[in-house]
Amino acid sequence: MKYKCRTCLTTCNDIIEHIKKVHGFSESYINDSLKTNSNSYKNSFEKIGQLKSDIEKFRIDLADHDSQKNKLKSEITSQSGTIKLLQNDIRDEQKALSIRLSTITGRLTTSNLFLITSIFSLVEPFLILEYQY
Ligand SMILES: [Zn+2]
Repeated sequence: MKYKCRTCLTTCNDIIEHIKKVHGFSESYINDSLKTNSNSYKNSFEKIGQLKSDIEKFRIDLADHDSQKNKLKSEITSQSGTIKLLQNDIRDEQKALSIRLSTITGRLTTSNLFLITSIFSLVEPFLILEYQY
């Protein structure tokens, strides 16, 4: 990590060394101020390369996010295929049921017909279910 001194605007690799060599602080003075506050000199320096490493981290996160997105997308595609098959099954069941019903409708009372219509209205949404992504 490189640091830029906000006072003299030069860069260094070691804050303490910089304060000693460039600004003439004594070792004991520095040690005393660090004992009082371990962040004593941090605000006087700017981390260089922090932004660069942040961007790099962001890139890695983004790539990870993209790969997760693609994984989810392919899962959705396969689920969507399963749903299509289920829709077809339901449609076939409904057809078979309709045929059976039509043969016994003659014997049904009005209230029984009402119940059957209600059941069909519950099944209906599954027949028109469409997946979009
Ligand atoms: Zn300096």
